[in-house]
Amino acid sequence: MLICELLQESAAVLSNAGIESPAIDAELLLGYCLEMSRTELYLNAQDTLSSVSVIQFQSLLKRREQREPLAYILGVQEFWSLDFLVTPDVLIPRPETELLLEKVISFYRASRPNNGLLVDLCCGSGAIAVVLAKELQLKVIAVDISFEALRITKANCEKHGVSHLVSPLQSDLLTAFRPVSGISCVVSNPPYVSREEMDDGLQPEVDLYEPHLALDGGQKGLEIIQRIKKQLSTQLAPGGYLFMEIGTEQGQDICQLFTTKETEKLTFGDVSVQKDYAGHDRFFQAKMNPQKPKNSGLQGYSHK
Ligand code: GLN
Repeated sequence: MLICELLQESAAVLSNAGIESPAIDAELLLGYCLEMSRTELYLNAQDTLSSVSVIQFQSLLKRREQREPLAYILGVQEFWSLDFLVTPDVLIPRPETELLLEKVISFYRASRPNNGLLVDLCCGSGAIAVVLAKELQLKVIAVDISFEALRITKANCEKHGVSHLVSPLQSDLLTAFRPVSGISCVVSNPPYVSREEMDDGLQPEVDLYEPHLALDGGQKGLEIIQRIKKQLSTQLAPGGYLFMEIGTEQGQDICQLFTTKETEKLTFGDVSVQKDYAGHDRFFQAKMNPQKPKNSGLQGYSHK
């Protein structure tokens, strides 16, 4: 069988299975089997395939036909023009998250915030931590509750040469940190998918294969974010920042959450929601107010 014939036949198979980009997926799978780029496949379209290659390809095609994400089959996902290792223990990095990183990186370059810990909260594959460490040459603490996810974080740090800058830490959000830990910036893509969407609105690729732990944000998708806000009220240094990816329907609720007084003082200021390239609310940022709370013996931190 010729390369072009197999590609045509398998694109039809994937199209029937409801895959959005059947031709590209077929090419990437065959390219993976033959160790060829897509351009090389076109250049060699009239070559005859060995039966071993065809058998290997058919087994990968079957997986994709059953809606397993391409990234899990290939074991990598490109993000920030880097190849990140991915397994079903971690969410596949999404392009929106690159925009979150652009915002954080330009913020750091413009106004180099004072020293303090930089944390990637709910780090999964480590994509955020690796890019921040590489671009800013700063130390990053990469936190996740999942030990299996942290193994992938670690592997990605090694792959991209930032193991000396990134410290993976297993923790349920910030519970492993001391109350006054001097965190100056938290960047996070937390689980924010609502229960309704988890039950009914996910693509088969996401629902069947991606870790629900990394997606499920509880009733309105805000439960983890509420916990993050509560922890940051005591953990984020005065003047410190939170940059977070959020769901498209959550901007208003999250602004309200972060501007609601829990105690005698308003903890967060400079609260804003920004949109992704599709024009949907997607990012949230807030700054910890720099004022010292009254009657506190501890510099600038509020204790409840
Ligand atoms: N953007 C992801 C999705 O739509 C969700 C990521 C998350 O919950 N952090 O599947």
